[in-house]
Amino acid sequence: MAPLTTAAQIDPQTPEASIETPVLDWYQQEPSTALTMLASTREGLSDNDAAERFATDGPNELIDRGTKHPFLIFWEQLTTVMVLILIAAAGLSLVLGKFLEAGAILAIVVLFALLGFFQEYRAEKAIAALKKLAVPNVRVRRGGKVREVSALDLVPGDIVLLEAGNVVPADVRIIESANLRIQEAALTGESEPVEKQIGAITGQDIALGDRRNMGYMGTQVTYGRGVAAVVATGMQTELGKIATLIQGVKTEMTPLQQRLDRVGKQLAGGGTVIALIMLVMGVVVGERWQDMLLTAISVAVAVIPEGLPAVVTFTLALGAQRMLRRNALIRKLPAVETLGSVTIICSDKTGTLTKNSMTVTVVDVAGQHLELTEGTTLANAEQSVKLLLAGGALCNDAQLQTTTDAEPRMIGDPTEGALLVAATQGGMHKEMLEAVLPRVAELPFDSDRKRMTTIHRVPIVAGRRPEGESGSVLEELALVAGEAPLIGFTKGAVDGLIGLSTHVWEQGRAVPMTAVLQARIASANDGMARNGMRVLGVAFRPFTSADGLNTETAECELVFIGLLGIIDPPRSEVKAAVATCVTAGIRPVMITGDHPLTASYIARDLGIARDERVITGTQLGEMNDAELSEAVKQTSVFARVSPEHKLRIVGALQAQGHVVAMTGDGVNDAPALKKADIGVAMGITGTDVSKEASDMVLRDDNFATIVAAVEEGRVIYDNVRRFVKFAVAGNIGKVLVMLVWPILFFVTGLPLVAAVALLPLQLLWLNLMTDGLLGLSMGVEPAERNVMQRKPHAPTSGIFTGMGAQTVWVGVALGALALAVGCAYYTAGQAQWQTMMFTTLAFGQMFQALATRSNRESLFTIGVFTNRVMWGVIALVVVLQMVALYTPLALFLGLQALSLVDVLVCVVLGIILFVAVEIEKFFLRSRSVTPTAPVPPQA
Ligand code: ATP
Repeated sequence: MAPLTTAAQIDPQTPEASIETPVLDWYQQEPSTALTMLASTREGLSDNDAAERFATDGPNELIDRGTKHPFLIFWEQLTTVMVLILIAAAGLSLVLGKFLEAGAILAIVVLFALLGFFQEYRAEKAIAALKKLAVPNVRVRRGGKVREVSALDLVPGDIVLLEAGNVVPADVRIIESANLRIQEAALTGESEPVEKQIGAITGQDIALGDRRNMGYMGTQVTYGRGVAAVVATGMQTELGKIATLIQGVKTEMTPLQQRLDRVGKQLAGGGTVIALIMLVMGVVVGERWQDMLLTAISVAVAVIPEGLPAVVTFTLALGAQRMLRRNALIRKLPAVETLGSVTIICSDKTGTLTKNSMTVTVVDVAGQHLELTEGTTLANAEQSVKLLLAGGALCNDAQLQTTTDAEPRMIGDPTEGALLVAATQGGMHKEMLEAVLPRVAELPFDSDRKRMTTIHRVPIVAGRRPEGESGSVLEELALVAGEAPLIGFTKGAVDGLIGLSTHVWEQGRAVPMTAVLQARIASANDGMARNGMRVLGVAFRPFTSADGLNTETAECELVFIGLLGIIDPPRSEVKAAVATCVTAGIRPVMITGDHPLTASYIARDLGIARDERVITGTQLGEMNDAELSEAVKQTSVFARVSPEHKLRIVGALQAQGHVVAMTGDGVNDAPALKKADIGVAMGITGTDVSKEASDMVLRDDNFATIVAAVEEGRVIYDNVRRFVKFAVAGNIGKVLVMLVWPILFFVTGLPLVAAVALLPLQLLWLNLMTDGLLGLSMGVEPAERNVMQRKPHAPTSGIFTGMGAQTVWVGVALGALALAVGCAYYTAGQAQWQTMMFTTLAFGQMFQALATRSNRESLFTIGVFTNRVMWGVIALVVVLQMVALYTPLALFLGLQALSLVDVLVCVVLGIILFVAVEIEKFFLRSRSVTPTAPVPPQA
């Protein structure tokens, strides 16, 4: 890439100091030069500077071309198959000289398009708002202080702190790197993370992937830590430059929307075929083709479920908002409905099932076992206990900040925070220890090794004793380090550390590790884990140099100091959530990096497992796919697993037909989150990378929130199905009226003067009232009582599965009632026969809507007024019907005025339909205990 061209040189000291565009590219500058050119320092910008730059540069965001322009949404509404058929109908009406009809059909087309438009527009807005919520926070240094700001607020010159799990929030020049590795596949296609450096790189046209001192927006920090200066934000970034390429992605249709789209098209197609058949038959038996064409148009119009797409979009978007209220942030709309079919929830333990409020309660050194409670002081404990606590506090990235109130605030990983608190009980503070033993190198924690190492400079050599208030532990440290200038502390999972330790620290000296000592440590570890504790071991090792150290060369030949047992109580609400899962036919599975015994204890406590069966990562690694497939059927607890094991577990479960929700928080969890049907990231403790890979983010990290989201998912699916059932049954009724009416005349030999049962306008009006208005109120129906007491619906089951028969008979009954009243009035020579059919269909559907609010329960059980929106809509529909009947609109719609008795007849017919549906539901209830759609294979 060509270097950027020059801009006028401005002295950074002048008040107008602003960023220079470099003569050379940023990667060719030394960090200090880059900072000067950015008019910034390592301490970061002042708040005023940042605000000014924000005012000129704007927010750090890619202009989202993903959201549709309103015109496009409107255009899409006008070009659906259904609307096109309606437009054709209007055209044919014109040909027939029926200008009024043509105009009215077109008006109604526009009305429906507007209705669809507003709903889709609202949905788009809602989704865009959700996207905004998902913007990560970034740690920046401003005015010398570290603080968190939204990635949107970053400006060039900002100093950002990067660590494993972050998504690089803008284009940056790296100015500090501690093993910083960044995966840049999004930009360069290279999947191996790149190790970052800070020195300038000479050379022209260096490819992005080789600019090792730069970080680019959208790439992922997979390892280490770093500090970097922002050089470009928003659309100025490399990602921004190619954003147009990646953003044209069409908003995905959910599987349900796709299936409904198909149903809509099939209905429209079917309607057209029936209409043509009628047309041909009519003309063959000698009817006027103009009359028959009008009938055909009416039939096509009757079948088309105009409100379908709008109602579905509306229901899904509304559902995503409801989920947000319950702390589940939906990132991808299809997740809303997939949640409803989840059969397995695989969850992490720490923080999701437990509170992630860690406390060290046991210290175990050289066989000595100390119980710790809140007030315990270890100031007088043995030297080796203090060494253990000091090691735990030094090999640690958390911070205890003193606040105005007495309670110190912990920043960082709660496990590490607990170690800091324990160290203070021993009279040691991390800052104090670090002041004497500064950290010079580190090998960060990762969930594969399950340990971390830090290396510190020892300011003393044997013979010279350190001074200071914590002389005693420093004395011990001097002893430990011997002649070495550096000492390393490694802390992590005990099972791993034992194998790496060649010595054990006992009474001020390192004794060789023996089988007996190993057994003693392992049994202390198991003993604590069996009681649900997370156990960490701490070891040390002297070093002469930190150069070129890696995990293999540094984490070996360790001297084991001791163990720390940490409790992390289960979240109180999770037990109930697990029980709900079980009644809902969902199997909860625990997948944790923790010790098998710890995992098993917590799993049994929460009801996830009944026995002690646990599969460990090592066992899993030895299984082939067939064995794993068998194992996942039986086992609900997986311990000491690595992120790649998660991927295999998801795969094995999916292969058995399960719909899997899987939680994850680390960088390495991203592939499993992507593979799962619902990838669930943690809002509080999760890394940006895991959030980006997820379908849903838990704002409170809580397992119970997943269960709540599943419940909402089921409600939404129910509501969409309910609406489809309602709309399709209604259309069957209308088509039946249209088809049977002329046949009745034909069979009875009556003159076919009134071959068209209902006029196109009347049918459109009915569809507007029912599919449009009543349908919307079905989208807000509250959860059915048993929603979490039945099995999940199979994702492969059709929309009509389990309700096809009901849809058909309700449609037939509706049509029959309308036909009956039409016949009765017609044969009695009453002119308002058509208006009676029209009004019967309208009232019939109102009562049908009420009766189908629950698929199973009686309206009186679920509560007559529990869906107030529906009552509001019914009131509106009644008023609109009256307007249609008794105002000049009647003329337009071709309706006659009805007497009060006539209207009452229609209402009574509606009530008959209502009672019929209630009777059917009564039989349904008495026949089976649990209703449901088919269930996928369960373990
Ligand atoms: P869960 O799945 O239950 O949420 P996890 O998979 O996140 O847990 P990790 O945090 O990966 O588990 O921890 C796995 C093991 O690594 C722990 O049992 C512990 O022994 C060790 N460990 C955890 N945190 C640290 C840390 N900060 N430093 C060193 N070792 C750690």
